[in-house]
Amino acid sequence: MSLIVQKYGGTSMGSPERIREVARRVQRFVKEGHRLVVVVSAMSGETNRLLGLAKELNPEGDPRELDVIASTGEQVSIGLLCIALHALGMKARSYTGFQVPIRTDAAYSKARILAIEEANIRRDLDAGHVVVVAGFQGIDEAGNITTLGRGGSDTTGVALAAALKADECQIYTDVDGVYTTDPRIVPEARRLDTVTFEEMLELASLGSKVLQIRSVEFAGKYQVKLRVLSSFTDVNSTDMGTLITFEEEENMEQAIISGIAFNRDEAKITVLGVPDRPGIAYAILGPVADANIDVDMIIQNASTEGMTDFSFTVHRNEFKRAMRILEGVKGEIKAKGVVGDDRIAKVSLVGIGMRTHAGIASQMFGCLAREGINIQMISTSEIKTSVVVDEKYMELAVRVLHKEFALDKAPDEEKMRP
Ligand code: ADP
Ligand code: ASP
Ligand code: MG
Repeated sequence: MSLIVQKYGGTSMGSPERIREVARRVQRFVKEGHRLVVVVSAMSGETNRLLGLAKELNPEGDPRELDVIASTGEQVSIGLLCIALHALGMKARSYTGFQVPIRTDAAYSKARILAIEEANIRRDLDAGHVVVVAGFQGIDEAGNITTLGRGGSDTTGVALAAALKADECQIYTDVDGVYTTDPRIVPEARRLDTVTFEEMLELASLGSKVLQIRSVEFAGKYQVKLRVLSSFTDVNSTDMGTLITFEEEENMEQAIISGIAFNRDEAKITVLGVPDRPGIAYAILGPVADANIDVDMIIQNASTEGMTDFSFTVHRNEFKRAMRILEGVKGEIKAKGVVGDDRIAKVSLVGIGMRTHAGIASQMFGCLAREGINIQMISTSEIKTSVVVDEKYMELAVRVLHKEFALDKAPDEEKMRP
């Protein structure tokens, strides 16, 4: 008898009928002899609705109260799922994050899980209950309700699986696995049967929202067996979705590129005409870091006559604040000006095969050049190449790169191409 943690996202919990389907799927696994802990999200659209209400009253609402509000969507979902399970004659008990309790730090709206107390869950499992836990929420040391960042129910699921040493964590969503890119943008995107942990980590951190980045980090740290599957298949479906693997050897047919991620969450700031001297990067980025603003890509141009331009990207939500800070330091560093652009997007190729294959980046740049897409910034690591482009070309860039690297074809098929 194995212990399985299943997580159902917003669309999977989107209506009473969907919730009934979730209950039927849970029942099937229980009938097969498994013990189940089920983590659920708020019904789709609910978290946005709740935060929207708060915004109507005050666009800059108090972070503590915003978490109190945002966490309620999941509380409704756990109650509804338990009622649906009871209607099927099953034993089920719901838990909010704070009832478990799931202990977090005090960073409202992006809290990190520090510890999970398992005693309540274990007792109910032993008594034959399905335990239904609210995703996305916890409690800090002072007893305040916290939330884990958008998409955070994935992290609740994987963290619970790690704490309970579950045999598997299954993330049920509205797609049947991890694809070569978001199938909403590229209908030819191909489902991956397996994806390595490292690739999934890059894909998630570069914008693929199919798994929240922190859930992937947890899976890696505690070696949780993690799968992404669809809740829209027949409840008796034996489809296995996508497995996140930890062993590269399992992927004999490893493609060079596994997937393409994109995100529109960043904005670019350029400090123009700064003297090219030691300490200039620190003079520009120090005050930004002091204001707790994370910087992603950084570029310093070659200098001409001792002057250079310095560009970097920040999260779009922090763009205005970062611009205000730089207007302040502009005089001190004798810069000619500061310009910003929040209509940019980042497109990234990810694949562990890039380690051993040269020329992928230049193939990427060539492909974008043929489409007339200007690359504004570039950043590379061992297993990814990211470019910043004008937001209006983002979808086109993703589509042409998907084609260029034949991601719609399985790796062995690709080898057979002329
Ligand atoms: P849930 O509410 O179940 O957590 P999300 O909307 O957070 O679902 O995540 C699922 C969505 O992620 C899919 O509908 C899809 O549009 C998007 N997505 C982005 N990149 C990928 C990818 N590489 N593979 C699959 N889905 C992706
Ligand atoms: N309900 C939360 C959100 O919309 C958490 C989640 O769905 O994972 O972000
Ligand atoms: Mg999600």
